[in-house]
Amino acid sequence: MLQINSLQEMQEITYPTGSRIGFVPTMGYLHEGHLSLVDASRKECKITVVSIFINPAQFGPNEDLASYPRDLERDLNLLHERGVDYVFFPSSGQMYPDGYHSWVEVEELSNILCGASRPGHFRGVCTVVLKLINLVRPHRMYMGEKDYQQLTILRTMAVDLNLPLRIVGCPIVREPDGLAKSSRNVYLDQSQRQIARSLSEALQMAQSQARSGILDSAELIRQATEHLQSRGARVDYVSIVDSRTLMPHAQIDEYSRMLLAAYVGKTRLIDNLQLL
Ligand code: AMP
Repeated sequence: MLQINSLQEMQEITYPTGSRIGFVPTMGYLHEGHLSLVDASRKECKITVVSIFINPAQFGPNEDLASYPRDLERDLNLLHERGVDYVFFPSSGQMYPDGYHSWVEVEELSNILCGASRPGHFRGVCTVVLKLINLVRPHRMYMGEKDYQQLTILRTMAVDLNLPLRIVGCPIVREPDGLAKSSRNVYLDQSQRQIARSLSEALQMAQSQARSGILDSAELIRQATEHLQSRGARVDYVSIVDSRTLMPHAQIDEYSRMLLAAYVGKTRLIDNLQLL
């Protein structure tokens, strides 16, 4: 496994002719969710590149950039064991040198749901992912459905900007009790960890209600919100949207997906589930 921290070195790598390149962008502190993306890439691609970069541009001024968990040595061992070919971990100074001016904005989709409470977040995400794509030059990029809005926005960016790659969405990896795996779960103490279960519980509840024929979104949203609140989570949003466009769905159909975000203590958690 080759370790690269220079932008120039990454951009100048000559891959073996004709080999498909798979790319998994991450912020590190890896868990089985990230590693499932690595496995998917390894299965489909000759070469797998993983990036580890905690992107300052996607954190708001009062968010957890300074405390975001990191453990590069552990991450490198996990990726090596998993058969990754290249790990790219550039510095912020190289990615955003003095005089940096260029930003990518996917309009409308970036201002709803998570974007409403995290202004500028998706502008930071889109910008860094486009920069990484330009450096790594992958044929396929593997991303988790855990960050469903991010996945949809990046798919839109790839189409709009004619990026020559395919984005592969991969299923959410969960803890045995249903909590979606996340680097941020380390922030939770024991009692918060119990409260955090309510996110996947609320989604499961909505899914079984929808499957039993309750197709009114407002009612499903009301009950999911009530469940989260009753367990002690502070709701940011609960929405039911079209899984292709993220536009609100008043009535459930085969494309309906519930997306939610809630605070458990100071930790903001997200999760989502297809309803039918
Ligand atoms: P992050 O390091 O949080 O920026 O995540 C890097 C990638 O891993 C993103 O594409 C995430 O959607 C994906 N990811 C994070 N958690 C999970 C999970 N529990 N299951 C599947 N993919 C995940």
